[in-house]
Amino acid sequence: MAIRKVIIAGNWKMHKTSAETRSYIKELSAVLDGVNPDSEILAAPPFTSLAVAVEEAKGTRIGIAGQNLHWEDKGAFTGEISGPMLRELGCSHVIIGHSERRQYFGETDEKVNLKIAAAMNHSLIPIFCLGESLDERESGKTFDVVKRQLLGGIGDLRPLEPKNFVIAYEPVWAIGTGRTATPEQAQEVHAFLRKELSLLLGKDFANSVRILYGGSIKPDNASTLVSCEDIDGGLIGGASLKVQDFFGIIKEGI
Ligand code: PEP
Repeated sequence: MAIRKVIIAGNWKMHKTSAETRSYIKELSAVLDGVNPDSEILAAPPFTSLAVAVEEAKGTRIGIAGQNLHWEDKGAFTGEISGPMLRELGCSHVIIGHSERRQYFGETDEKVNLKIAAAMNHSLIPIFCLGESLDERESGKTFDVVKRQLLGGIGDLRPLEPKNFVIAYEPVWAIGTGRTATPEQAQEVHAFLRKELSLLLGKDFANSVRILYGGSIKPDNASTLVSCEDIDGGLIGGASLKVQDFFGIIKEGI
């Protein structure tokens, strides 16, 4: 770990109203005083809570991320939200290609690629998620699957700046299941991704880009994961919903 700046990001999924968001961000920013200022802390509330989250996070070290975006800037896409909308609200990052989007909303590598392009066009830093299912792991396809997702998501997008690009390795079998990848399992995939990135985009990019791990991170397993050489932080779902748990991860993970 930590030739690269650590990121600890909370993915709230479909949780928290605006009022709940306001009190969460207040509480989190209060406890963050005095914690290693070198790390980046992000929260990704649902769309309806983003404005309140940005307002409460102003002047704190908490950055706010969207959980998804459409690849077009505007148009007849009922229910969708675009890059310019997220940017105008004050989001700095956007999660793209989360396994729940891939599984329940038909998000393919091609759509992920379009969404990453849209994020970059609007100065939003993509948090590009990828990871294998349990079946794929058990049938020995992990590396093929993550390579396909990595190449498909990045496609022809160039140039990519490592400081404005984040990858999250999230094995699907570890998301929300309580079954965390062992540090060895996670490190192995992170090192593989870095090697593939080096072939694709060069050594400098591969050595500088942050690759987060996600999948049932808790305060008691965060430090062993984040201390692995190629793991630069975490994307946290369930355990980001309570300030105490998220803060516990932040303290352990940096
Ligand atoms: C996630 O949704 O990105 C995630 C990692 O969830 P959890 O921490 O609940 O496994």
